[in-house]
Amino acid sequence: ASKPLGFIGLGNMGGPMARNLMKAGHEVVGFDVSASNLAAFADAGGRPLESPLAVASVAKTVVTMLPQGSHVLEVYGGKEGLLADGGAENGSLLIDCSTCEPAIGQQVARMASERGVSAVDAPVSGGTPAAEQATLTFMVGGPEPLFQAASAILQHMGKKVVYCGDAGMGQAAKLCNNLVLGITMAGVCEGHALAERLGLDQKKLAEILNTSSGRCWSSEVYNPCPGVMEGVPAARGYTGGFACDLMLKDLGLATGAALASKPKLGLPMGGLALQMYSQMSARGDGTKDFSGLFLHISEKKE
Ligand code: NAD
Repeated sequence: ASKPLGFIGLGNMGGPMARNLMKAGHEVVGFDVSASNLAAFADAGGRPLESPLAVASVAKTVVTMLPQGSHVLEVYGGKEGLLADGGAENGSLLIDCSTCEPAIGQQVARMASERGVSAVDAPVSGGTPAAEQATLTFMVGGPEPLFQAASAILQHMGKKVVYCGDAGMGQAAKLCNNLVLGITMAGVCEGHALAERLGLDQKKLAEILNTSSGRCWSSEVYNPCPGVMEGVPAARGYTGGFACDLMLKDLGLATGAALASKPKLGLPMGGLALQMYSQMSARGDGTKDFSGLFLHISEKKE
């Protein structure tokens, strides 16, 4: 029988992703430091184990979905990590789907190759609904032959798997996309705030934006102004979307990566967007959807 798959980090994203691997007929062994998330995984039919090392000792392919870089380094390189003695071996494939800085993806790839183990970075776009419905987009960085092998697994959890280049380039693609998204969302919020002051109907503005040069995903698919669209966070008090704090994390990674690059790159628009979401978070709305920035810009918040 083929070896089971491993999954580490069974949270909001990893939980449903692991379930989709089970739905596709795979046996999945998993680990999470959260006892309740590990129990939910077991309830869904997964086999819980006691460490990343234990997972890598029984699974040839392991997917990780962790909060950030520090957790990734711990899970891969720690004493009980995937790459510890008795864990991943020659022929194993490790796929990190967490969002972190490209340098972490490159460091993990190096650590793995020193042990003859294959590793790719494969961060995702699409939130928890896409994780549940297996419609995520994966951005993969690593040697091209590994892309084929990783795609065979990732396709069970998403609808698009894109090859982005060498190690770290999946992370690079993710950070660049979210940098643009953070900025365009702030721009659409400002446009709607101005429309309000000028007495322009908000639906009318959205209609114009979406058939004119201001059109973008933030105006058309995820409009931040209440009353313009159904089924978006703005229509339900900015709950249940992409948290402001997660956007803040991605903008921090993007501006940090730009500063660490040679020569240094300034991202003034990204930096300003980062400060705007920081204020939103500092005012207590860090867990609200990032499009809630509209209320802070239009100063409608009590
Ligand atoms: P989450 O906090 O819900 O899940 C992370 C899980 O990792 C938790 O269950 C936590 O207990 C576990 N964990 C932490 N340290 C661990 C360790 N050392 N060993 C084992 N398990 C450990 O976060 P999430 O929303 O699932 O996000 C995961 C990643 O996906 C993040 O990098 C995030 O930026 C990215 N992402 C999230 C979304 C989203 O909408 N939630 C969308 C795209 C990308």
